[in-house]
Amino acid sequence: MMKSSPANRGRDIERQAGYLRPEHCMPPPPQTHSAGDMWFIRDCCGIVCGVITWLLVFFAEFVVIFVMLLPLKSMLYSLVNGALFNGLAFLALASHFKAMCTDPGAVPKGNATKEFIESLQLKPGQVVYKCPKCCSIKPDRAHHCSVCKRCIKKMDHHCPWVNNCVGESNQKYFVLFTMYIALISLHALIMVAVNFVFCFEEDWAKCSSFSPPTTLILLILLCFESLLFLIFTAVMFGTQVHSICNDETGIEQLKKEERRWAKRSKWMNMKVVFGHPFSVAWLSPFAPPDHGKANLYQYVV
Ligand SMILES: [Zn+2]
Ligand SMILES: [Zn+2]
Repeated sequence: MMKSSPANRGRDIERQAGYLRPEHCMPPPPQTHSAGDMWFIRDCCGIVCGVITWLLVFFAEFVVIFVMLLPLKSMLYSLVNGALFNGLAFLALASHFKAMCTDPGAVPKGNATKEFIESLQLKPGQVVYKCPKCCSIKPDRAHHCSVCKRCIKKMDHHCPWVNNCVGESNQKYFVLFTMYIALISLHALIMVAVNFVFCFEEDWAKCSSFSPPTTLILLILLCFESLLFLIFTAVMFGTQVHSICNDETGIEQLKKEERRWAKRSKWMNMKVVFGHPFSVAWLSPFAPPDHGKANLYQYVV
């Protein structure tokens, strides 16, 4: 018996357990991925983008420290701004690393076996969905990513800059990454502005240990980089927070999927991604958010 409701239109496969034909799926591969293993996507484009991200941050660090702060006479200004910029840059890179190397919420590959479907003990009226590409039983709101070659729970999008999918389990790190990059970009822009004002009054040669043309080129490059990334990451941060508050992933917004999940308050939705209860740990890329998620494989239609 097939059921077709508007909410399920456009989904990959929709059948009752008996029709899933699990015998057509390869047996699941031997468990090579345990909880302690590091997650890393071997995608050339993503790896190149990830390395470029780190190099751009290191370039900004170099210009801020060696061109702007160290040659200055004011120790206090240099110390305060140096500590702030380096602290934020460290948090940005740590968030990037965590976003890249955290399993975004991948569904076990090839779990669409007869035993697994039987173990779900489906009641009449309940259906499960099978992904035809990775032979897994899809939980609700999971989508298949062609780069990761896996189904990802609450997949938002695949981001080449962090060389990973943004999904249920790593969205916090991705949001922190965009926030810290926006903050260091803003901070760099303010410092470049202060530097320009200060150095126009003083002699250029006294203001930097590099020659005036080199100093100018490096500062303009930093200005350009910061402005570009400030706009890009601030927009991304806003979009992410908006979709977290509304509990709707980027894919769901694009596909205009009908809402099948319970509505919660905006604050509750934030806690689901960043952890319970609200604390400074929300800002730390080293504190894994405690979701307390339910693994919902079954749908009531
Ligand atoms: Zn899949
Ligand atoms: Zn992906």
